Amino acid sequence: MSGFKITSKIDDNMKTRLQIDGAMDEHSDYSSIETKFTDEVVFDFDNVEHINSTGIKHWVQWVASIHEANPNLKFFFVNCPKPIVDQINMVDGFLPEGSIVKSFKVPYFCEVCDKDITTTFVLGREYNIVDGKVKLEVPDNTCDRGDCEMEPDVVEQKYFKFLK
Ligand SMILES: [Zn+2]
Repeated sequence: MSGFKITSKIDDNMKTRLQIDGAMDEHSDYSSIETKFTDEVVFDFDNVEHINSTGIKHWVQWVASIHEANPNLKFFFVNCPKPIVDQINMVDGFLPEGSIVKSFKVPYFCEVCDKDITTTFVLGREYNIVDGKVKLEVPDNTCDRGDCEMEPDVVEQKYFKFLK
């Protein structure tokens, strides 16, 4: 397993994008990150492989300090894999108040073929915020055969809880 790495860059819209790679654990050190942000910051969790309780603690403390120093800063989360979605659902403060999850991953499984895939749900596609309420449409994915189907391999009430 690769170690923790966080990369900061300014995207085409002049917004800060922070990409997190590897494991969020006792080695996850955010102190090297420049915390002078514009009005928005995007966290990209696409390459996070693992998170443990120490990693959660480091993250919650760090993100709370940024939130406190920049009360008007908007947080966007993209490409959240299942371990991150689980924490968003379970850990208070993992997602700072007012944050928006723009995309996250959902594991799918076909019982007939014993096959799994990962689908990314995107804000504005599988789910949307209408009048402050989230509308979610969980799609069925086709599989290899005519008589089988990929279904979400999560407890939907728990996994999609953070959207409510
Ligand atoms: Zn199948």
